[in-house]
Amino acid sequence: MSEVRHNWTKEEILEIYNRPMMELLYDATTIHRKQHDPNVVQVSTLLSIKTGGCSEDCGYCPQAARYHTGVEGNDLMTVNQVKAQALRAKEGGSSRVCMGAAWRNVKDGPEFDQVLEMVRGINKLDMEVCCTLGMVTENQAQRLAEAGLYAYNHNLDSSEEYYKEVISTRGYQDRLDTIDNVRKTNVTVCSGGIIGMGENVEDRAGMLVALSTLNPQPESTPINALVAVEGTPLEEEKPVSIWEMVRMVATTRIVLPETQVRLSAGRTQMSREGQAMCFFAGANSIFAGDKLLTTPNPDVNEDMKMFELLGMNPQKPFTKKVQPQSVEASDSKFESLGEKPKWTRPEHKIDRNEAAKAKGKLVK
Ligand code: SF4
Repeated sequence: MSEVRHNWTKEEILEIYNRPMMELLYDATTIHRKQHDPNVVQVSTLLSIKTGGCSEDCGYCPQAARYHTGVEGNDLMTVNQVKAQALRAKEGGSSRVCMGAAWRNVKDGPEFDQVLEMVRGINKLDMEVCCTLGMVTENQAQRLAEAGLYAYNHNLDSSEEYYKEVISTRGYQDRLDTIDNVRKTNVTVCSGGIIGMGENVEDRAGMLVALSTLNPQPESTPINALVAVEGTPLEEEKPVSIWEMVRMVATTRIVLPETQVRLSAGRTQMSREGQAMCFFAGANSIFAGDKLLTTPNPDVNEDMKMFELLGMNPQKPFTKKVQPQSVEASDSKFESLGEKPKWTRPEHKIDRNEAAKAKGKLVK
């Protein structure tokens, strides 16, 4: 039952999701224990290296320039600032730093070169380095790999059908193509999604079909609960219940048995008991740090107290895969191609965004 399968159907996943809770928990934790140490949690720190001012219209995101959310934009951080923050994260028990930039896609040029230097710098601190920078080409993924990147995050967000109800400026296929480009390198893939955006259970199952049929499956999958931020089109969505979160985590664990399942946004809305239930259901990673890009997250000390209470230990870096070697920029085999890739921009109308626009919620 715990073998990796790439042919899950939506019906099978729905059957799992809707099992009686005690059976679902038992099935998920049985698989979890076969594949992972149940007392070990991988801890990542998410660092916003370039905040706000994004051109996209992701309905959940306070960093989109078109929404009035009060998020202050900033320029790309310096390499030294990032290294200092990474060191702090390491001292706080994190084994991985995930650098997020509010970009539609990576563009060749000085800013990308600066990000490559950050990757080299953090890898040399013996921490796993992850980036989430939007869409990437194969050449850009190769350059990140050569700099020593361990993981690239690119979430599918939801099912292909519901994705269109949340975002009109990017296409689902572009997301899959980006994951494919990362897969052509030795960088691991981190991809997951968000629940609580108004999607139905079929959409949650649809997202898990899309993730589980990737071959190989992602090495890590964040499961976010929407943090509805005022000023975004999703501001009125009600928080998901802990039971929905537990069901989603358990189902993810069953269909992605080897993947690290990460509790991400929305942890501040969850009690310790709720989080413990998610760990039992198969979650084995969290984001640490008092902020997740721009939304609140539990304090690091609180997380360490929770681990102590539960007898859990943070995972050491490079437990799952050997540390990549960073190649210096001067020795690089991959040139900047100055590519101008044609990522799609469907620009279809989303009713909820139109309604928000009518209420003056959007800048344009
Ligand atoms: S999720 Fe990323 S691409 Fe979408 S608006 Fe936010 S920063 Fe931009």
